[in-house]
Amino acid sequence: MRLKDKVALVTGGASGMGAATARLFAREGARAVVVADILDREGEALAADIRKTGAAATYLHLDVTDEAGWQAAIARTVADHGGLDVLVNNAGISGSAAEDLYDTAAWHRLMEVNATGVFLGMKHGIAAMKKTGRPGSVINLSSISGIVGQGYIHVGYNASKGAVRLITKAAAAQHGKDGIRVNSVHPGLMPPMRTSGRTADPAQRAETLKGVPMGRAGDVDEVAYAILFLASDEASYVTGAELVVDGGWTAV
Ligand code: NAD
Repeated sequence: MRLKDKVALVTGGASGMGAATARLFAREGARAVVVADILDREGEALAADIRKTGAAATYLHLDVTDEAGWQAAIARTVADHGGLDVLVNNAGISGSAAEDLYDTAAWHRLMEVNATGVFLGMKHGIAAMKKTGRPGSVINLSSISGIVGQGYIHVGYNASKGAVRLITKAAAAQHGKDGIRVNSVHPGLMPPMRTSGRTADPAQRAETLKGVPMGRAGDVDEVAYAILFLASDEASYVTGAELVVDGGWTAV
């Protein structure tokens, strides 16, 4: 039980890697798992499914771009479960939907959801963690697109994920003395996001795979286990780190 007694909130928890993380956290004995998303039907269904295993899971509607929504979600989590120990800022949108890689509206939306959403989560999540005085762990989902560029996605995706990588390190520097660790996770080629456009295309995926030494896409659980490590006390001296889960894509 690697997360015994911990209260965790996962944004974008209704789908993909967020859902896999919520399920894994519950299996690893988290005291409570709060699934937060804008997909209410899927989020409620996931929380109900997790509860069937005997674990405590709830769903909260949270648009990560809404600061008042963040305040309410954190307040509710603390009121219901007595604190917050682990925050996974996972919600995000794809950079492969817009045809025009310099579309201005897409730039603003990518920055709003992928970067500002993480900023707001850290702002209110870390404040709540400091109040409890318990060790805290924040895990921010960046991407290999926060480390290297791609020729086929909107530059705003790289910008937003690069921002996540660096605000993670800044927060790690600022909150080390508070006992709060902040790390980023950088998945490579995974199952397509709900908002994927070009990157969901089988021909594009086959082309991308040529650059992946392991020669296959990753599975959502392979990212969830990386997040689990950073969430757990096993990572008690790990902060400001970027954990790449990409089958070697950025190693070559
Ligand atoms: P997904 O589309 O399956 O899940 C993303 C979740 O975020 C969805 O449940 C969605 O409803 C939620 N979300 C979107 N906007 C939101 C908002 N404003 N407020 C709250 N929730 C919102 O995608 P995924 O593959 O599970 O991606 C999870 C994270 O991993 C994202 O940050 C993504 O950028 C990153 N990532 C994905 C891949 C990939 O290939 N799938 C690769 C690297 C990084």
